[in-house]
Amino acid sequence: MLARLEAIRSEAGEGINVNEGYRPYGFNIASYLGDCAGAKDMRECVKEKSMHVSGKSVDMKRSARLLRATKNLQARSGGGVGIGPTVIHVDTRKRIANWFYR
Ligand SMILES: [Zn+2]
Repeated sequence: MLARLEAIRSEAGEGINVNEGYRPYGFNIASYLGDCAGAKDMRECVKEKSMHVSGKSVDMKRSARLLRATKNLQARSGGGVGIGPTVIHVDTRKRIANWFYR
């Protein structure tokens, strides 16, 4: 995950503001369901939240350059990218997955 962040930071040419990286195991499925209430795809949302527990994903503050660099990296290396109005979620899953937050 850190190598991925470094690749994004270097290509974007700007620092990354991490909103949420590793989450402690205290967060459980019930809290994910709460977080995901109203999500368009509840299953995808819960899966996304759970990846934070294992340190395989990071939410960063969104900028145009970081978003472009993130999409370029995804095209080269795969992974999940979730895009919200102010946030970009990046994770290290093998397959390519894309979604949007409201
Ligand atoms: Zn996330």
